[in-house]
Amino acid sequence: MSVASAPDDAVQASTGPANVGPRLTGPALTGLALARGEVERAAHLRADADWLKAAWSDPATRVIVVEHGQAHCELTDQHAELAFIAPAEAPDGVRFLLGAEGGGRAYFGVAGPLPEQPGPGVRPAYLREAGPLLSDRDAGLLTHAVALANWHETFAHCPRCGSPTDPVASGHARKCPVDGSEHFPRVDPAMIVLVTDPADRALLARNAQWPERRVSVLAGFVEAGESAEQAVAREVAEETGITVGAVTYLGSQPWPMPQSLMLGFRATATNTDIHVDDDEIAEANWYSRDELAAAIAAGIIRLPPPVSIAHRIIETWYGAELPGSW
Ligand SMILES: [Zn+2]
Repeated sequence: MSVASAPDDAVQASTGPANVGPRLTGPALTGLALARGEVERAAHLRADADWLKAAWSDPATRVIVVEHGQAHCELTDQHAELAFIAPAEAPDGVRFLLGAEGGGRAYFGVAGPLPEQPGPGVRPAYLREAGPLLSDRDAGLLTHAVALANWHETFAHCPRCGSPTDPVASGHARKCPVDGSEHFPRVDPAMIVLVTDPADRALLARNAQWPERRVSVLAGFVEAGESAEQAVAREVAEETGITVGAVTYLGSQPWPMPQSLMLGFRATATNTDIHVDDDEIAEANWYSRDELAAAIAAGIIRLPPPVSIAHRIIETWYGAELPGSW
C-alpha cells in the first residue's frame, strides 16, 4: 500500500463525467476531524524524569482528565474547547504525557474521575460529539488522551502471566513487574471502503444491527495475517458478493471508541449483482449521485455524521458536502 501514490490515483478515481465537485489535489482526505493535531508528541521526553517532574510542578502545564471516554469541554453548537485544569487540581489516575509545545508548555492526560466543579458552560463530552468542533490542537490532544485512557482502563494485566502491569514511558507503555515484558497501546485496524461500479455509482449498505434508513460504506476489521487491501476485497465480497479490482488508499483516522484505526479506501467493482450476507448486512444498493441526493432529501436514507471517515469518503465521491444525521 503506497501512501505516496494515493493522491493521483484518487483524482483518477473520483473525476468521472458526473463529478461536479472540486478537483482533488494532494492527499485525498485531509482535515479529518480526529486526524488533526498541533502539539508535538515529544516522545523523547517520556523517559526524562527530571523534565517530567518539572513539567508536572509547573502551574502553566495543562491537564485533561478522561473518564470512560468523556472529558470536560466548553461546548456550543458551533465550537468546543477543552476545559484544562492545572496539575495540582488533577485527580489520581494513570498519567500520560500528551506532548509539549516546542519544548514549552506541557500537556498531560489523566485517566481518572472527572473534576466535580467545571467552569460555566463546561460539561462532559465524548470525542464523537466534541471532536469536530474542537481546534486542531484540542482535537489532537483529546483523541490522543481518549485512546490512551481507554487502553489503560481495559488492558491493565500482563497477557503472559496475568499480573497487574505498571504504566511506563509516561503512560505510552505498560510493563509487567513479574516477567519484565513490555506492552504497548493496542490499536485495531479496520478498513472502510467506498465501492463504485463502472457507471460510478456508489455501493451503500445498512448493517443488520442499525436502525432503518441508516446506510454507509462497507467496513470491517483487518484480520490477523491479512493486509488492509486484502481485507477490503474479502469484506466487500463477503458482505455483498461484489468483487473489487483496483483499490486506492485515501487516508486514515484514529477512532478510539474504543481502539480502532480506520483505513479509508476506494475500490472499483468488477460485477454489479449484489447478494447480501444476511448475517451482517440487511440491505445494500448502488446509488448514482442524483439518486443519493434524492434519497437523502426524501428521508429514505441517512448518512453517518461528518466526524466519521465514512462521511468524508462519501463526500469525496459525491463532490460536495452532504448532510449527515446519525
Ligand atoms: Zn507478566
